[in-house]
Amino acid sequence: MARRILVTGGAGYIGSHTVLQLLLAGFGVVVVDNLDNSSEVAVERVTAIAGKYGKNLTFHRIDLRDKDALDKLFASTKFDAVVHFAGLKAVGESVQKPLLYYNNNIIGTIALLEAMVRHGCKKLVFSSSATVYGWPKKVPCTEESPLCAMNPYGRTKLMIEDICRDIHRADKDWNIILLRYFNPIGAHPSGNIGEDPRGFPNNLMPFVQQVAVGRRPTLTVFGNDYSTKDGTGVRDYIHVVDLADGHIAALQKLFKASNLGCEVYNLGTGKGTSVLEMVAAFEKTSGKKIPVVKAGRRHGDAEILYASTRKAEKELKWKAKYGIEEMCRDQWNWAKKNPWGYGSPDSTS
Ligand code: NAD
Ligand code: UDP
Repeated sequence: MARRILVTGGAGYIGSHTVLQLLLAGFGVVVVDNLDNSSEVAVERVTAIAGKYGKNLTFHRIDLRDKDALDKLFASTKFDAVVHFAGLKAVGESVQKPLLYYNNNIIGTIALLEAMVRHGCKKLVFSSSATVYGWPKKVPCTEESPLCAMNPYGRTKLMIEDICRDIHRADKDWNIILLRYFNPIGAHPSGNIGEDPRGFPNNLMPFVQQVAVGRRPTLTVFGNDYSTKDGTGVRDYIHVVDLADGHIAALQKLFKASNLGCEVYNLGTGKGTSVLEMVAAFEKTSGKKIPVVKAGRRHGDAEILYASTRKAEKELKWKAKYGIEEMCRDQWNWAKKNPWGYGSPDSTS
């Protein structure tokens, strides 16, 4: 029988792409999402793209903090593993509303882990982030680099990593993979699913995309005095489909090794690209001019962040396939087909 995976936050950007890859790889998938930062349309589109595999996907609108709803779900369905994406992720908002972030991300995760214990499911893949490396003194970041959270969002990631390490220490039946994502961008090549942030986009490429389709007049570039090639910040951008495939590799590892413990892997490409290089690459692919306004540094931003990918390559047998050109091509394809994301001009701000 096909393995069944519970995907929390599966209606969101990375979740929807991962759910699609899971279905195509033959898994049964159950998504829970409260739709706070996503749309059920994403789930419908994933079902359609998956074709004959679409029937293996079910969706439940559940908030992770709703213990009774989670219990009912776990009682009715046996899961072989959980992939846990659900959480709030806007750094600036987390500084303004720390309690919202601690409540949603930490309490939501504890409720999930408790339900897993109650129902005997002890295999987990968790969405951590390169943000746990803070402002690294040395790049590329390896999984052993020092950890330092610079805001409440980052602290929720570090705390959840620690919780996972602790529960495995206390109970060796747990097998957990913590995936530290670098900067996912792009969209599925069909152009039918992609990133659709609610309100003002915090991340670079969703903003660039909204300028390209005329929803915003200019891109503000934060910082032009970093000690980088052109003075702007450098990040490790990774195609979201590559990132999604990294989860399949992680699950395969979890199913193969019964005593894996709690392991952490970077998911990135190992290459650094500056803000201005990204803008130029997107302009070239889309043929659209992206007017930029140069501004000061954004508080809490690191200067250069990119991954060492050696551990994931060696142990997960996973390596990113796509380059910046394909990331921009697929981002633009999604934007052109869906200038208002999953919504309409009236439903979006
Ligand atoms: P997203 O906002 O598109 O997806 C998160 C999903 O979780 C949303 O659909 C949201 O509605 C749901 N959700 C939030 N709180 C919930 C709750 N209490 N109960 C049920 N559902 C809830 O974000 P994403 O970009 O797909 O990110 C997925 C995960 O990856 C997050 O944990 C995020 O912190 C992490 N991550 C993202 C990035 C990035 O750049 N996108 C980088 C590193 C790590
Ligand atoms: N950035 C920018 N303008 C924006 C959003 C981001 O110049 O509107 C810069 C940001 O300062 C950083 C890079 O783009 O150098 C990537 O930022 P993003 O928020 O996408 O990712 P993160 O900083 O979380 O890695």
